[in-house]
Amino acid sequence: MTAKETTELVNLLDFDAEGLREWCASIGEKPFRATQLTRWIHRRQVSDFDQMTDLAKSFREKLRKLAVIEPPVPIAEKKSSDGTRKWLFDVGGGNAVEAVFIPEDDRGTLCISSQAGCAMGCLFCSTGKQGFNRNLSTSEIVGQLWWAERELCRDQGITDPNDRVISNVVLMGMGEPLQNLDNVIRALRIFLDDNGYGLSRRRVTVSTSGLVNQIDKLAEAAPVALAVSLHAATDELRDKLMPVNKKHPVSQLMAACRRYLRVAPRDFITFEYVMLGGINDSLEDADRLVELVRRERVPCKFNLIPFNPFPQSDLEKPTREKVLAFCYRLNEAGYVATVRKTRGDDIDAACGQLAGEVRDRTRRAERLAQQKKEAAVILHRHNKD
Ligand code: SF4
Repeated sequence: MTAKETTELVNLLDFDAEGLREWCASIGEKPFRATQLTRWIHRRQVSDFDQMTDLAKSFREKLRKLAVIEPPVPIAEKKSSDGTRKWLFDVGGGNAVEAVFIPEDDRGTLCISSQAGCAMGCLFCSTGKQGFNRNLSTSEIVGQLWWAERELCRDQGITDPNDRVISNVVLMGMGEPLQNLDNVIRALRIFLDDNGYGLSRRRVTVSTSGLVNQIDKLAEAAPVALAVSLHAATDELRDKLMPVNKKHPVSQLMAACRRYLRVAPRDFITFEYVMLGGINDSLEDADRLVELVRRERVPCKFNLIPFNPFPQSDLEKPTREKVLAFCYRLNEAGYVATVRKTRGDDIDAACGQLAGEVRDRTRRAERLAQQKKEAAVILHRHNKD
């Protein structure tokens, strides 16, 4: 086959169920063919049409001439001693994006990317420092899950298409998912499709820096769980950390969260909070955070992420004492707050600064108790001083 013919082939990973039905109709095939195809592609991760044994031979021949199933290909793969896996996918033009799999006792979470680079320019984010290259296509977004699920199943000897290794997907890797809304929504529909990955809305999370209009659009099109990168309780500070705040200030963001909660699969929003030493890590900052979510009436949980310095950042890591005291303050005010435990340290598993937001919830209760104990000791010591 010539290069020209190859570029004209349709990549079936770009279609959600409706798109695949329309495409099948356009080549004179019945709608049920689309369902069969979806199951082969997304439930079994099969890319060779000849292996799709319940498809008519004539249909398979047609597929071979017109289509491919082509995920992005990893250029590097690393395995951590704690079971975390990272793939670096080539998306052409010298760009690569990351996906990270984090195994836990009760779930397997895959963190995927939605853009090559990012235009949002958050001060504390290494991806933001790289600038924006381009949006990923639907096939490049879905392909990360397709590839990871296939590899993990192979490794674990899983052959039953109903047994899955990845139970949760979070869009917290490179990029701002809501700036690539059409492709992200199509990908989400494939994740939720019973003939596709069959994930429940609660098990798929989109993380945004706070694009208010797009939050509303996501609510309409595919209301999965929502995580919002907050990082500051006031416009004054958030303006400095996240340029998006100048366009969509905190009060507008909180209103969008309230609207989202009407359709969200969970009854709370997760607020991500990167803790930056000496900038947003004081107990007063914690109090302002509590005051904000109370005033704005947004039921929420907090995920605290101690900043991890990278070469071009002038920002500092918070001390462990400050992180625990901050966390304890939120807990005391009645809010669930957890401190992210870094996973896959030995393979540098964080995509940008925020990929590591996929926090380790293993033995969450014990960890929470431990955090509280440590915080109580620290507070006691402070009080004595
Ligand atoms: S934190 Fe997220 S939205 Fe901000 S620059 Fe980094 S990848 Fe983009």
